[in-house]
Amino acid sequence: MAAYSYPPLGRNPSSARESTTPGSFANPPDVGGPRAFSSPDTAGMPPPSSKTAWDFMPAGWRRDEATGFAVAPDGFEPVTQLEHARLGHVTAEMARVAEREPHLSPAQVRDEVAAGRMVIPANRVHLGYRLDPMAIGRASLTKVNANMGASPISSGTDEEVEKLRWAERWGGDTVMDLSTGGDIDACREAILQASTVPIGTVPIYSMIIGKRIEDLDGEAILAGIEHQAKQGVDYMTVHAGVLQEHLPFVEKRLIGIVSRGGSLLAKWMIEHGKQNPMYTLWGEICQILRRYDVTFSIGDGLRPGGLADATDAAQLAELEALGELTEAAWQHGVQVMVEGPGHVPFDQVEYNMKLQRRLCHGAPFYVLGPLVTDIFPGYDHITSCIGATAAAYHGASMLCYVTPKEHLGLPKKDDVKQGCVAYKIAAHAADVALGIPGARDRDDALTKARAALNWDKHFELSFDPDLARAYHDEDLDVDTDFCAMCGHDWCSVRISKEITQFVSGKDQDYAWDLPRVSKALSPEQQAILEQRGVLASEEIHRLAGKTKRAMGATAGEKADCHSDYVEPETARKLQDRA
Ligand code: SF4
Repeated sequence: MAAYSYPPLGRNPSSARESTTPGSFANPPDVGGPRAFSSPDTAGMPPPSSKTAWDFMPAGWRRDEATGFAVAPDGFEPVTQLEHARLGHVTAEMARVAEREPHLSPAQVRDEVAAGRMVIPANRVHLGYRLDPMAIGRASLTKVNANMGASPISSGTDEEVEKLRWAERWGGDTVMDLSTGGDIDACREAILQASTVPIGTVPIYSMIIGKRIEDLDGEAILAGIEHQAKQGVDYMTVHAGVLQEHLPFVEKRLIGIVSRGGSLLAKWMIEHGKQNPMYTLWGEICQILRRYDVTFSIGDGLRPGGLADATDAAQLAELEALGELTEAAWQHGVQVMVEGPGHVPFDQVEYNMKLQRRLCHGAPFYVLGPLVTDIFPGYDHITSCIGATAAAYHGASMLCYVTPKEHLGLPKKDDVKQGCVAYKIAAHAADVALGIPGARDRDDALTKARAALNWDKHFELSFDPDLARAYHDEDLDVDTDFCAMCGHDWCSVRISKEITQFVSGKDQDYAWDLPRVSKALSPEQQAILEQRGVLASEEIHRLAGKTKRAMGATAGEKADCHSDYVEPETARKLQDRA
């Protein structure tokens, strides 16, 4: 060990500071600075921008040297969280964010919002319903978005509201309603009334229902955005960064433009021979969003749709435009986050995150995946959550989930659960790695329960207790000092618990008396097992008997493999027989 030394350490993500691990290998925390919680930069990565939202204040504003806060023109009435933060106000929403994320103080939340590194998507109309304010930014925990929405051929309002509740149940921090069919307006209204989490939309979808994209004009764009803002939508994706001059870069792509909004606007530009109307109307759109405190989620219309198109000229040219749009939105007092790819090889994820941090001056990055391979349709919640973990470690603030139905169809309820769970894993793994204070506390509590072989507590602390209990009881419906994985003789956790020198499993107020038959499985837990392709118990016994015979077991005797020590020659014979 003397020959090795640890890299510079960040913060230990455990509040209790007990354990044998040295702590996080991420950078030390820099809340209030451009890095907040960040990974060390691999050689060649772009450094953070030297600018923040403070460098892009509205005309007539100045920053008071003494207080550090802004001074607005006489008679100015702040509306957005950004404007309040610039003026030094701690709003009720900022206080609530700090309450939900105790590693931050209300003043730190305010300062991050003022710098543009954090957003609180909370439309003033939605705050009048059931919205519980939350924050997205590098100083806060990584957030997960769940997409839903009716399509022209599947689903309706009731089903979408049910999916919203399901997404909230499984940890979705925000939900995007991407409906393109059915009664879109009623569906959005129902979701806004029912949700406790911020709701995002892509307003262009509803603008072109029943009409050709070519017929879209400025008046319809502004009216559509205002209508949704008035309904209470908290953040909106506007694909204003896809510009006419970017389109030639797309010609040689393997899969062109895969963003719905990006492809529609590209068609509009080619048809009219004019610049993207979302770009030319940016100032007017900003004014609408400011009135309701709708947060921008500036869309990446040119995100890559396959590994072969990742980090190409089209994507990077658009990202530069997204940086300029961020600056302009801040000058209007509007909160901004920026959307990102898509499909990116694992080795390019860090560069993508750090380039956005530089070009968009630390505005929160909200990424879809990214998928790190293209050949697993049906498993894209897994391929993408691998990329999402890297993205969250290297710079993303919110991860848009991908479900197993990605590229294949409209997600159903169970797909929503699978996507949410995969992305909660990605977000949580990154938060622990980044050394966010307290991020590992629940992991440590579960580890202690596991070490004590306290099954009830083990399952209670797990993210999906029903699944964990059902899987345990599938093989052994007795809570005892081992499980069916290794059996009694081989249970290292039980053996560790018995070793008197170890603390393992002993600091829980929990001791074995007698094995307890676990409570009968609940209907939900039984349903979990019924959905699995399990073997019938007769079949399990038949296979077990076959194995025993193969291993030389006789009645009342241990099988050859069931021993603490096996001679090399016996081991070789056993392997030959297997
Ligand atoms: S039997 Fe194996 S898997 Fe089960 S608790 Fe013991 S060590 Fe863990």
